[in-house]
Amino acid sequence: MAEAYDIIVIGAGLCGLAAASALAERARVLVLEREPQPGYHATGRGTAVMQFNQGSQVVQALTRASLAELSGHYREIEDLPLLAPRGLVRVARADQLDQLHRFFDTAGPKPLCRWLDSEEVRLWVPILRPGYAAAGVLEAEVRDIHVGRLMALHQARMEARGARLVCGAEVTTLLRRTNAWQVASEAGTYQAPVVINAAGAWAGQVGAMAGASPLSLTPKRRTALSLSAPPGVDVAGLPMVADIDACFFLKSENGRFKGTPGDDTPCLPSDARPAPLDVAKGVDRLMAAFDLKIGQPDAVWAGLRTFAADGNPVCGFDPRAQGFFWLAGQGETGIQTAPALSRIAADLVEGRIAPAGRHPAVPGLDLADLAPERLSASFA
Ligand SMILES: Cc1cc2nc3c(=O)[nH]c(=O)nc-3n(C[C@H](O)[C@H](O)[C@H](O)COP(=O)(O)OP(=O)(O)OC[C@H]3O[C@@H](n4cnc5c(N)ncnc54)[C@H](O)[C@@H]3O)c2cc1C
Repeated sequence: MAEAYDIIVIGAGLCGLAAASALAERARVLVLEREPQPGYHATGRGTAVMQFNQGSQVVQALTRASLAELSGHYREIEDLPLLAPRGLVRVARADQLDQLHRFFDTAGPKPLCRWLDSEEVRLWVPILRPGYAAAGVLEAEVRDIHVGRLMALHQARMEARGARLVCGAEVTTLLRRTNAWQVASEAGTYQAPVVINAAGAWAGQVGAMAGASPLSLTPKRRTALSLSAPPGVDVAGLPMVADIDACFFLKSENGRFKGTPGDDTPCLPSDARPAPLDVAKGVDRLMAAFDLKIGQPDAVWAGLRTFAADGNPVCGFDPRAQGFFWLAGQGETGIQTAPALSRIAADLVEGRIAPAGRHPAVPGLDLADLAPERLSASFA
């Protein structure tokens, strides 16, 4: 006899855990994770910043609506903060100034977002090569996110509310029987009327397993490099630096640098590994922009960011497969949008809101822009 729950969440990245902790207030929730620990894939491999001008209008609305919760202090994590000041300077060479102007015109809010001339850029980022940047835009609101603490918070909350997390439990079969899903996993078989697909890069595969609508979700690989800071370079207090065309990012962390060539290579879901050429591009681009002697990186890794074609997440019940709920396609902003998106997911699963129209906690968002149906052009 399969163990029975109200809701089974597939995937224990941040998005699965945040939804589980919200739903566990009123339901019996089980989270199934293939890996031996939660957060092993995209959640554990990111840059971990909160950027308010990143992504579509929908993503930006979700990000703003997540700020209050991320700014809170919670006894489950000993009142430690989830956010830390960072700041971001987007830089442009002379040949990229048009892109920088276009970005600045739509970015906000001013004056937290402000134009920097080349000298001001060098004052903010003294490690840039002299003459490299013709101008920049400072986004003072950008914060670091403590992803480990956020994961710990949601895991502690869901467990305190009676939810269960089973790791080493890859879901292999999903069958709808009468009023419930039978969910077969490596750790056992379970059943629940509602299944939440929070499988990150594997969301498309999990959807196919359930016979759900074939949404087009594309995992894209992004490479990251860890670099030691040259002697004498004070990395503390440096803002993050990004090329306006996203050809590189650099951020200091614990006395070191984390960089990326900004690659976005479409690929199949997997335990992503960096391609040597992307690592080489990362080193070249960072050396061209920064006055740093960058040798071989100390560590390299890659992660998958999974996108729907319009760049919005997918959050809603599938129109074809009863009780099958999508929580996927968070792309490059799944950490910073998790508070608002998990609240919306919980409200939709519990039937407290309609799948189209406004959500009171997320000004400027129409829920139809998150619904699986909007990707209907890709349905077979
Ligand atoms: C390099 C990089 C930089 C990023 N930077 C940022 C940033 O600065 N800010 C930000 O907000 N976001 C950032 N992101 C994006 C963010 O990390 C993701 O949007 C977010 O982590 C997605 O979370 P998730 O829970 O959906 O996916 P994941 O963390 O990938 O979790 C999905 C889980 O599902 C499990 N799973 C899959 N299939 C099955 C199955 N059949 N059975 C059981 N379990 C299964 C997987 O093992 C995995 O643990 C970045 C991502 C990358 C890769």
